Order: sequence, then C-alpha cells, then structure tokens
Amino acid sequence: MITNQIHLLRPKSGAGGSPIDGVSCLSWRFGVETNNVIGWTTIPEECEGYIGHYMLGSEYRKDSEVVTNEALLYAKSLNLSNHGKNVWVFDVDETTLSNLPYYAEHVFGVEPYNSTLFNEWVSKGNAPALPESLKLYNEILSLGIKVVFLTGRTENQRAVSETNLKSVGYHTWEKLILKGASFSGKTAEEYKSAQRKELVNAGYRIAGNIGDQWSDLLGTYTGDRTFKLPDPMYYIS
Ligand SMILES: [Mg+2]
Repeated sequence: MITNQIHLLRPKSGAGGSPIDGVSCLSWRFGVETNNVIGWTTIPEECEGYIGHYMLGSEYRKDSEVVTNEALLYAKSLNLSNHGKNVWVFDVDETTLSNLPYYAEHVFGVEPYNSTLFNEWVSKGNAPALPESLKLYNEILSLGIKVVFLTGRTENQRAVSETNLKSVGYHTWEKLILKGASFSGKTAEEYKSAQRKELVNAGYRIAGNIGDQWSDLLGTYTGDRTFKLPDPMYYIS
C-alpha cells in the first residue's frame, strides 16, 4: 500500500516496461523536450531500449501529430494579408525529413554523433518524410503561406537535400537555406537567428516556425509562434 501516491504510471520503465534502476527514461525524455536537460551528447545508455521503442512505436508519431495539429489550427486562425510574403520556417532533419532509419542502426543516440557516417547517410538522399510534417507542409501551402526550409545541413549538401525533399513530396519552396562556410563554428541558434533576421529584413513575415531542436526555435526573429517536435535522440545547441 502506497500512501500519498500521485501516479504509478510507467515508473522508471525501459523497453517493454521493464524497470530500470536509477534512471527514469520517461522523466529524462520529458526533461529533454522541455529544454531542461541541455548540452548532452548521448542518451543514457540504459534508455536505448526505451527511446528505440518510443521512436519506432506509435508514441513518437502521436506526439508529432499533436504538434502539427496545433500548428495547423494556429495557421488557420491567422488573418494574413495576402501580400505573398508570409512564410513558415521548417527545419529539415527530424522535422521535414526523418533520419530514423539511420538512428535505428546507430542505437538511437547512445553512440556519440559521427559526422562521417551521418553525412554518408545524408548523401544517399533516402530519408523519408516525417508524415505529420508533410501533411502540415501541404496545408500551410494551401493557406497561401510560403515555405522556407532552414537547416544546419551544409551548402555542399544542397543538391542531395533538394532531391531528397522532392522525392518524398516536398515539391516547392520559397527558399532552402543551408549553412554556409561563414557560419562554421557558430551555434545553430546563432546561425538560424541570423538567417531569420535576413528573411525579416527582406520583407518576409515569419508566421510560424517548426523544428525538433530548441535551437531551431530560440534566439531572435523566431517567428510569430514556434512549434517543438519531439526528438529525444540528439541535442544541437
Ligand atoms: Mg532538426
């Protein structure tokens, strides 16, 4: 008998609900998604099974759908003057495109990020769309809002990124902004803030902004509203 029990839902559970000593993987993921757990390079080793099941199971998709549904409700509520300069900023990796096939082979973030292997995967141009984001993308376009992709992928990945985006259904965009050499050494937050400032200076109104990293959504010129997609696999500052 437990007195003063609040909830006993999935206490410290890992894969298949098996208990894990010490780390509550759900609490850790919650800390990540709320930007309380920051600056990490790998997920807790004990949470590989938990994060793997989360990402490959239905919960990741359901969590994504809550975000994109809210984004769409918000977009539909806007009374935008139709001057052709309203844009929605989409991040690319783990937002428009999913690298889950890669991360499933690399233990869901337990291994430290390996740029050589990850760039090999990117160069194949085989990343599927995150279905919830593709749906949002199409609905945003139908509302007359233009799409800007703003990604930490580098300029030398432009061609493969364009091909990959088109092959999975992202058929048009106003701009695809990739990280140029002048931003090497800058954080994602600095780089993305600077690029969004350029958009605003060019007369665009950033009606919405969606990404899987807080560095997509914090900083300056963040847009009228931001939407955080789930990503418990890696952290980019
Ligand atoms: Mg991303």
